[in-house]
Amino acid sequence: MKPSPNLICPCGSKQKYKKCCQVFHHGKVPSNALLLMKSRYSAYCFGLLKYIIKTTHKDNIDFQEDIISWEKDIKSFCENTNFEQLRILDFIDGDNIAFVTFYAKLSSNGEDISFSEKSKFYKVNDIWMYHSGEFLENSLS
Ligand SMILES: [Zn+2]
Repeated sequence: MKPSPNLICPCGSKQKYKKCCQVFHHGKVPSNALLLMKSRYSAYCFGLLKYIIKTTHKDNIDFQEDIISWEKDIKSFCENTNFEQLRILDFIDGDNIAFVTFYAKLSSNGEDISFSEKSKFYKVNDIWMYHSGEFLENSLS
């Protein structure tokens, strides 16, 4: 999917992209982890590799020193996945650590994938970063 300013933002906000996650993709720093999480989801929808990389904590399991190879991995994931729905289930804010629990519905090669994840975010130098995620057992459908 190509980003288009007047499109409804894929993050589930029901707002236009230009009034929602686009400002973060264009450089504004999200003021909390929930906004960061949603903007990362829409960055996946639009294949904005650099944004995903920029907002990933260096201790994340997917973190790669080799940016070119990392970009290739994200690109192939984005190209082979349809991001159909994001639903926020819970948000626990904090000064330096925050948690967002969400449900996401994706599909890949005609196969539906849905899962719930509790994501952990750390604030590093005043900027929220995605640290890690834990899949939850009782997935909604
Ligand atoms: Zn959005």
